[in-house]
Amino acid sequence: MKNEYLSSLMQRVIQRNQGEKEFHQAVREVLESLEPVVEKHPEYIKKGVLECIVEPERIIKFRVPWVDDNGNVQVNRGFRVQFSSSIGPYKGGLRFHPSVYEGIIKFLGFEQIFKNSLTGLPIGGGKGGSDFDPKGKSDMEVMRFCQSFMSELAKHIGSYTDIPAGDIGVGSREIGYLFGQYKRVTNKFTGVITGKSIEYGGSLARREATGFGLCYFTDAMLRDNGESFRNKTVVISGSGNVAIYAAKKTRHLGGKVVALSDSDGYIYDKNGIDLKLVKQIKEAERKRIKTYISVHPDAEYHENCKGIWQIKCDIALPCATENELDKNDAETLISNGCIAVAEGANMPSTPEAIQVFLENNILFGPAKAANAGGVATSALEMSQNSIRDAWDFETVDAKLKEIMENIYKNSSAAAEEYGMKGNLVAGANIAGFLKVANAMMEQGVV
Ligand code: NDP
Repeated sequence: MKNEYLSSLMQRVIQRNQGEKEFHQAVREVLESLEPVVEKHPEYIKKGVLECIVEPERIIKFRVPWVDDNGNVQVNRGFRVQFSSSIGPYKGGLRFHPSVYEGIIKFLGFEQIFKNSLTGLPIGGGKGGSDFDPKGKSDMEVMRFCQSFMSELAKHIGSYTDIPAGDIGVGSREIGYLFGQYKRVTNKFTGVITGKSIEYGGSLARREATGFGLCYFTDAMLRDNGESFRNKTVVISGSGNVAIYAAKKTRHLGGKVVALSDSDGYIYDKNGIDLKLVKQIKEAERKRIKTYISVHPDAEYHENCKGIWQIKCDIALPCATENELDKNDAETLISNGCIAVAEGANMPSTPEAIQVFLENNILFGPAKAANAGGVATSALEMSQNSIRDAWDFETVDAKLKEIMENIYKNSSAAAEEYGMKGNLVAGANIAGFLKVANAMMEQGVV
């Protein structure tokens, strides 16, 4: 980083948040993008906006004891990082995965500030979760864990304060148990969580939103460059909520998805993935992706999910987890003729991989912009809950599409305005930052 102030701020972030490498990575990427902004607007430095924005407003950390099916007490850790409420109540998902610790939640919460700002909707940034692993647990164990988790979290959230949602390991089953416990301990039926089932206040199209939104964003980026999804070969990592609905929308838009993965390995089906079967395996049966080949023996299964980036494709959509695509993978994608990469997962590409994409003029949609459709639709769910209404699928989907196209336009315009035409990483960071920073300045040092 050339700017002296930003570089010393980065050093302070590293020193104050020792060992939290994912958080450092997320902050560094944003600060690097902001160099031309602070040169043009030194008031952001003078008024302490940057120092405030890298420090969460509040971190809640708690014990989550629960009893397993054998009668043994298990203890996990729960977190909620309430990062920024400058433009609206804290909003961001909950992640249940053994890799969760404070640094992961801080990185996700920090990213969420700018992503939520990009949606154009009044939502601040937050994130939470636990090192609990729902994989291999019975429904009753998951229920007891969620009830214990929410018994504490309920004290800190509310429909005008902080509205959690799902993320890795938190799908509609977990959301149901969490919402049920919130209602029990507060005696309130409010839109305190999004991603709910339709029966009790959820929004149509929320399940599809992140994957569909990713494709709407990617389509806007492709069309602006004279390309489209039509007849393109597409590789998507993951096989969870984001990946499945990205695959579905890719197909609507004329592309062919040939690969999906989970944390064990990946499947390659040159005829195009049978999505109905994947949904059956992952959503209904909660089994491993390798069982796909027992129905389609002509498809291939490979252990080690990282190998997925060696498959020749035109478009790559990483939709599993952070840092899943490194410099070598980026180089392999490019040498295989890939023209576009858009991130469905949060921070799936390493900084070195992003550098390779930008240097080679690959169309690159960063997570903050490209996967904002989930939280945008969560905000639409909040609107419906507030007015006690339920919109039809087409209404929500049309709003989602418009939001994603605007995110593309605004990120692209910000990149151009600050002399980095085509660099959507910088454009998304700048456009997301400006709105939050201006709100912070107007509200004073609080
Ligand atoms: P799910 O839990 O539904 O699916 C996650 C998928 O990624 C699974 O296939 C999982 O495989 C795989 N995966 C998870 N961790 C790893 C890992 N360490 N290595 C390799 N594969 C892994 O989560 P989502 O689809 O909801 O989330 C995926 C990504 O999208 C995350 O980065 C999340 O933060 C981001 N995101 C999600 C949004 C949403 O609305 N759900 C919104 C915006 C971003 P396995 O089953 O083997 O664990």
